[in-house]
Amino acid sequence: MPRSLGAAGHSFQTPRVAQGGSLFLPMLRLPGLIDPHVHLRDPGAVHKEDWDSGTAAALAGGFTTVLAMPNTRPPIFDEATLNLSLDSARQKARCDYAQFLGAGPANAATAASLAPRAAGLKMYLDATFGDLRLDDMLLWQAHFRNWPADMPIVVHAESRSMAAAILLAAIHDRSVHIAHVSLKEEILLIKAARERGLRVTCEVAPHHLFLTDDSAGEGLLRGHPGRSEVRPRLARRVDVAALWENLDVIDCFATDHAPHTLEEKDSAEPPPGFPGLETALPLFLTAVHEGRLTMEQITEKCHTNPRRLFNLPAQPETWIEVDPDAGYEIRAADQHTRCGWTPYEGWKVRGRLRRVVLRGREVFKDGELSASPGTGRNVRSPG
Ligand SMILES: [Zn+2]
Repeated sequence: MPRSLGAAGHSFQTPRVAQGGSLFLPMLRLPGLIDPHVHLRDPGAVHKEDWDSGTAAALAGGFTTVLAMPNTRPPIFDEATLNLSLDSARQKARCDYAQFLGAGPANAATAASLAPRAAGLKMYLDATFGDLRLDDMLLWQAHFRNWPADMPIVVHAESRSMAAAILLAAIHDRSVHIAHVSLKEEILLIKAARERGLRVTCEVAPHHLFLTDDSAGEGLLRGHPGRSEVRPRLARRVDVAALWENLDVIDCFATDHAPHTLEEKDSAEPPPGFPGLETALPLFLTAVHEGRLTMEQITEKCHTNPRRLFNLPAQPETWIEVDPDAGYEIRAADQHTRCGWTPYEGWKVRGRLRRVVLRGREVFKDGELSASPGTGRNVRSPG
């Protein structure tokens, strides 16, 4: 077992000498990663993901906790639908988890009564999201008023909707967490709001850090416009640069893992979203190798901050081990997500997940999963 070396949250294993005298490079140890934004399609679209395959992908990506979004079919917005998702998770999940409730036009009181059992409240404040769409700011206010002040509210609110969400949170004297920030104007507004003392936090998805609107012409995305569809859309280089320049404003990295099959992505009405659980860590480790990110920032944005912002319990005897120098090529064929593709197919990355230990048990080693369905725990369930 690697030694723990103090407060930095990760440590180096003592180098070992292999047969023949060559030296294994040190293995790096990080805490179990937390992904506060995944779509697991269960219930309603389990042909492309479910609690089993999605949490397998999580562990294979170094995530030992995932927080699942509520825009399933049916959406998770009351006690019956929350039980539907949590029953499925209890039987299938391989890593720890919690389920968000969706804010609908008429469920503010019901949702608030279920808050202790939920990861948080998710509000969709623009674009069309079916039953969970909130067109009227009076509907937003009902949720800001009812939802417990010490439980997280996460909003999908782009550009000017984001500014409105920050204002309403301030009026109701509460915090708000902005999902998947992608634009320069957004990250700079969050920075300015914080400088004025407003309680706003945010997350950024890997595809908004590693892909731009030019990426649609490259690799697996070339010639298939539907494959690049994602909300928020892939942004301009100037936006991506602004995110990298303001890493200190970004509280969390969140994959927004949103699996769809290639057949769906190539259809006449391509659904937005990319799978992301198994590619985030190698992309971040590659950025460390390039000097754009530090291991401390990975630990902070993928563990320390999401754990604090979402009030998550400690996972005892839980860690991941990465080989920071192992180079490899991303291939969908090696992945566990059911959707069967990745926008990063063929990307050469540097830094590989070797091992995951969850609550004292080895659950992943060198590409092989050994966690059984049903062994994951609901982090909002007492005991
Ligand atoms: Zn999402």
